[in-house]
Amino acid sequence: MLFKREMKDKRSRKIAFLAHCLINQNSKVQGVANFPAMIDPLINLLKKHKIGIIQIPCPEQAELGIGRPLGDDTKQRYDTLSYRKTCSKISDDLIKKIKDYQKNNYKITFILGVNGSPSCGVDVTPVRKGSISVLSKEKGVFFEILIKKLGKNKIKIPIFGIPETRKVGNLKETLKKIEKIV
Ligand code: SF4
Repeated sequence: MLFKREMKDKRSRKIAFLAHCLINQNSKVQGVANFPAMIDPLINLLKKHKIGIIQIPCPEQAELGIGRPLGDDTKQRYDTLSYRKTCSKISDDLIKKIKDYQKNNYKITFILGVNGSPSCGVDVTPVRKGSISVLSKEKGVFFEILIKKLGKNKIKIPIFGIPETRKVGNLKETLKKIEKIV
């Protein structure tokens, strides 16, 4: 007799973890949403490859609420002890979820952050230099913490940054790169 969890059904057993605003642009700071609701071309890719979505909680919203002001929008603005604690807690919850899926034979295809975000930047993050904000090749506060914790837990999953604006990358090219590994 088969246990329930071994029974065959239609599930793909493929899952991706997405930064919150990639499927809910309403969570972004005022003035920086580029789509009405979701990053539609990304959702099409996920549908095409039958990949389920786990929406990562938005750490900025968890810390400062939906009405947070744009401010200087740099990594330094968010680099506080309290914010790091919030990011750490979200990361621990995600790692627990990832381990549970992996233990039960699900494939975590990739994790997606947001290039250009001071929190979820993967390759490019705005940092304060003197009195101005410049783009730097580094991770945002949240993804820096998440990636360190994944490493400590020996979890290897491809991670990509979806460009927030044209200034930090090309969405089409990024999706092509992602599609190569699914
Ligand atoms: S990039 Fe990260 S912190 Fe910024 S709105 Fe999206 S999920 Fe929230």
